[in-house]
Amino acid sequence: MKKCYKIQLLATLSFILLLPNTKGWGEDGHAIVCRIAQVTNDFPSSSRLSDSAADAVKNLLPKYAQNDLGSVCSWADRVRFYLHWSSALHFADTPDKLCNYHFDQLSENSGDCKDQDGEKGRCVVGAIKNYTDQLLGYGKDTQYNLTQALLFLSHFMGDVHQPLHVGFTSDKGGNLINIHWYRRKQNLHHVWDVNIIETAEERFYDSDINGFTKAIQENITKTWSDQVRGWETCNSKETTCPDIYASEGIEAACKWAYKDAPEGSVLEDDYFLSRLPEVSLRLAQGGVRLAATLNRIFG
Ligand SMILES: [Zn+2]
Repeated sequence: MKKCYKIQLLATLSFILLLPNTKGWGEDGHAIVCRIAQVTNDFPSSSRLSDSAADAVKNLLPKYAQNDLGSVCSWADRVRFYLHWSSALHFADTPDKLCNYHFDQLSENSGDCKDQDGEKGRCVVGAIKNYTDQLLGYGKDTQYNLTQALLFLSHFMGDVHQPLHVGFTSDKGGNLINIHWYRRKQNLHHVWDVNIIETAEERFYDSDINGFTKAIQENITKTWSDQVRGWETCNSKETTCPDIYASEGIEAACKWAYKDAPEGSVLEDDYFLSRLPEVSLRLAQGGVRLAATLNRIFG
């Protein structure tokens, strides 16, 4: 009995220890992306989603989510510990130092999206395409679990917009770059998953995720309003275009995440305040594109 307890405690501890490095955006980042897609704050009863997409999302969400996509947007992070096959789908590695790398799934040598074993299509870009295709079977006879497909798609659409989820291979998207976030030891990947968002919420929004979400939504309708159509648009034949999202990601990783953040650096206000607009922009794009993709899927 005692031994059993020890093993369980060990398992729980290693689970907790593993968490910080393995999340996508943290809980808050993912929730923000999904809430931007599903609801607009200015008109709480209205949605970025078309009526049919809103209906399909409501039908597919598990009952306990109470029609709040944001509340289950991190489900994919919670299950990766037992759905081991899904781990590789949260990110895409890019060749070292290639800031203008272009993902192109349609090209002959689409060797850019693969897992550690070299299996093609197993990265965040391939996953977004795959779950989009599965969801196109909605309302038809399908072999797929479309609730899972919706939760995976919503989560991965967030991940692909976190610049370091398409970071360099050798530093594992900044996971191997040790820095200090103010006084705390941290790695660069975690700063982009969690710390910038958390610090923004604490400092500017009374530690309230809704305040930050609302500020981003206001930017979408004001500052970025003339760009939103461009974010939504894919090539006319495509339902979603993660190649573009990921290619933007590595460019942003070089320009904002890796820049001035080498191993051993101390990141403080200079870094935080200059990177926060980019984090807000990527969260906004993730939400807008998730809604646009769901609208194209469900009509
Ligand atoms: Zn993730």
